[in-house]
Amino acid sequence: MKRIAVFTSGGDAPGMNAHIRAVERTGEKRGLEVIGIIGGYSGMMLGHFEVLDRIRTANIIDRGGTILKTSRCPEFEEVEGRIKAAEELRKHGIDGVVACGGDGTFHGAHYLWQEHGIPIVGTPGTIDNDLSGTDYTIGYDTAINTAAQAIDKIRDTADSHGRLFFIEVMGRHAGFIAMDVGIACGAEYVAVPETLTDIDEMYQRILAQGLDKRTVVIVGEGDELGGALGISKKLEERYGISSKISILGHIQRGGSPTVRDRVLASRLGAAAVDALLEGRSDVMVGEMSGQITSVPLEQTWEERKLVPPYLTELAYLLV
Ligand code: ADP
Repeated sequence: MKRIAVFTSGGDAPGMNAHIRAVERTGEKRGLEVIGIIGGYSGMMLGHFEVLDRIRTANIIDRGGTILKTSRCPEFEEVEGRIKAAEELRKHGIDGVVACGGDGTFHGAHYLWQEHGIPIVGTPGTIDNDLSGTDYTIGYDTAINTAAQAIDKIRDTADSHGRLFFIEVMGRHAGFIAMDVGIACGAEYVAVPETLTDIDEMYQRILAQGLDKRTVVIVGEGDELGGALGISKKLEERYGISSKISILGHIQRGGSPTVRDRVLASRLGAAAVDALLEGRSDVMVGEMSGQITSVPLEQTWEERKLVPPYLTELAYLLV
């Protein structure tokens, strides 16, 4: 193996730059040339490649976003799109690829390996923390800290006015962000996609808190009742209670990565390069209980990673 490539794909996550830096530095130390693919699978299909070196990857460890950009690329979901991408990789003499992204990115990586035999190792880059095979994903720690800071501020105003607030955080399929920030910010109720949200029970909690008191409900965006907006409407219809809604949105994706995210991103970058050199492919490298792990890409989406019940119990115990 002489030349490897790295790319970021799907939803961006803070720490992706630290990860790119780690892949480049590790590759260089192991005597490899490292190429950056610009713009995820779209860039792979178009041959948008650039040589990475120490200078290009200097001063990026603390930056949010991704210097390699990212994209959603429906063409790559088709066989023809992947043929184009494989041709470009071969044309540029790329012997192995590090793919940083979420489960969509891993589906694509899996097919690229199966259909074209291009060695590819995935690394978990998503703020949602919803990938099985790793305790945490790159970007998650930054996202929860950003969300917690925003919620603390909303709590101040909710407290001053004695208002009920629904604060929606990201997480289409997983409630990790909601549950962690719910506990960290002392929320009165946490609604997550994994469990059915009981409006009547929520109402009882709000009553117990006092209708004229501050009540903060954290809602994961994928909650089955339609996120913060859906829940607030249902509560108003059923019990005539009005509330304020705040959707934190993309603020959770940006910003300088926390130390934890930088270290995780760096460690997994080095581990991914070494996995390629050891001849592994079609796997995601992650970290569990402090150890580097390597699991088949398919496992990362087939085995659903759920919010551990002890966190749910803790959130309710501490209300
Ligand atoms: P994430 O990687 O963060 O989950 P997406 O779900 O948007 O983000 O996936 C990123 C990209 O991965 C998609 O734009 C597409 O190019 C590719 N992809 C997603 N699903 C598949 C699939 N089933 N087959 C092939 N490629 C896929």
